Amino acid sequence: MVRMAMDNSLTRRDLLRGGASLLCLPLVPSFGPRHRPRSHRFLADPFALGVASGDPRHDSVVLWTRLCPQPLLPEGGMPAEPVDVAWELATDDGMRAVVARGTVSALPELGHSVHVECTGLAPDRHYWYRFRAGDAASAIGRTRTLPLPDAMPARLRFAFASCQHWEQGLFTAYADMARQDPDFVVHLGDYIYEYAGKDGLVRKHVGGKLTALGDYRMRHAQYRSDPLLHGMHAQCPWFVTWDDHEVENNYADAVSEKKGVTAEEFLRQRAAAYRAYYEAMPLRRSSLPKGPSMRLHRRATFGRLAELSVLDTRQYRSDQPNGDGRRKPLNDAARDPRNTLLGAEQKRWLCDGLVASRAVWNVLAQQVMMGLVSFPAPKPKDGAAVDASAPRHDERGYSMDQWPGYAHERADLLRFLAARKIANPIVLTGDIHANFVNDLRIDDADARAPIVATEFVGTSISSGGDGTDASKELAALQEFNPGLRFLDRRRGYVLCEVTADEWRSDYRTVDVVTKPGGKTGSAARFTVRAGRPGVAS
Ligand code: FE
Ligand code: CA
Repeated sequence: MVRMAMDNSLTRRDLLRGGASLLCLPLVPSFGPRHRPRSHRFLADPFALGVASGDPRHDSVVLWTRLCPQPLLPEGGMPAEPVDVAWELATDDGMRAVVARGTVSALPELGHSVHVECTGLAPDRHYWYRFRAGDAASAIGRTRTLPLPDAMPARLRFAFASCQHWEQGLFTAYADMARQDPDFVVHLGDYIYEYAGKDGLVRKHVGGKLTALGDYRMRHAQYRSDPLLHGMHAQCPWFVTWDDHEVENNYADAVSEKKGVTAEEFLRQRAAAYRAYYEAMPLRRSSLPKGPSMRLHRRATFGRLAELSVLDTRQYRSDQPNGDGRRKPLNDAARDPRNTLLGAEQKRWLCDGLVASRAVWNVLAQQVMMGLVSFPAPKPKDGAAVDASAPRHDERGYSMDQWPGYAHERADLLRFLAARKIANPIVLTGDIHANFVNDLRIDDADARAPIVATEFVGTSISSGGDGTDASKELAALQEFNPGLRFLDRRRGYVLCEVTADEWRSDYRTVDVVTKPGGKTGSAARFTVRAGRPGVAS
């Protein structure tokens, strides 16, 4: 028996309890016991943002849509009242064998988004679904459940991606991803960028720099109106997590990048951004934001083959040491044991989960590079003010927005992975618009120390525009970074094929994203053998 778990009164209660203190929600006066959701005639397709599914388990999955007939108008061209949305789930792509259906109310205070948690499903199989509102029907989406927790599936094929700046390039990489037909997609953040629209680029953001709920909603709608992006969402379930740009560049917990912004002001902005993110993504109700807080770290198991710990390294982190996130020497401020990326609660949750895991591969899906990769100091610019905290010409710099700025917690985590013999740890990373592969050691500078884990850093979908292969830079960096195995600065994503014996990462890169017709191919492939950390040579 298939059940549908969606309780709008709870949603609304949660909204009011959690949100009212920091967010002025556009409450609907007519809502209440007398409320009658109306069905609508739409002037344009209310499903312009497509459909999506996410956070699958062996017996359930989230089905998502958001009524938004005019993505580039305030409130998506929707009236400030609830609208009934019917959904159905079938075992065939023609929607003939419907096994579950229901109706939910798309609420204006949730941007007319719909998150249906379908439960009681069969494991390890595809399902198809669609929505109706008024006289409009959505496209048919395909999703799938995961294998039973104690099953040993023969293989897992999934893709991970990050950083899709609308203005800097087209989302061509998703066309190749769709052809590869992965079981699911993991998105590691920078799903949108918060900056104001700029002329002279590939495409243009509508509106100014994002600060209010309406701004964030419209930006998400603009991005999701891209057919390659929403087509990929309709093809398989996604696990999403955010990085900084879903709110603001390089923010840390309640600390804005901008000087002089109080924590209270910034948390109001963060609450708006988190709410719009929840509305835009196929997330479970357990991720419904409460004011400026939203639970995004969570776990998924693909049988006993792989366990995915999806992390949030923004919401709970301490501020970047040394004052900002730029490259600095690995000094006392970076090594301060009080610095944290995960926060105490998430770190405990992660470590407890890793100890309890029975999976062959233990995957950390997270945002910022864990490899302690050092770069040469930049040449001082003529006439520029001297930055006393920047590396001198003879020093090497490490990004303070990444794990090197939180070096104590990083070493602690790697020591834990080694000491507790966590099986085959694999770290997946986004953020830096470049492909890296790193063999991770407790101290990456010590080439004789044992390798503990392997990190695959995936490049951006479009951020940075057309890139380069960076082979010269790689050779220069490897002199100082014994764990660094690969660097490539083109656009793309990473396709992973996982069996009980081997992990294979295929770096798919696109030759051009600033115009249509970019060709995608394999830039490099890396293998990790189970029981032998580090990429096999
Ligand atoms: Fe980015
Ligand atoms: Ca980022």
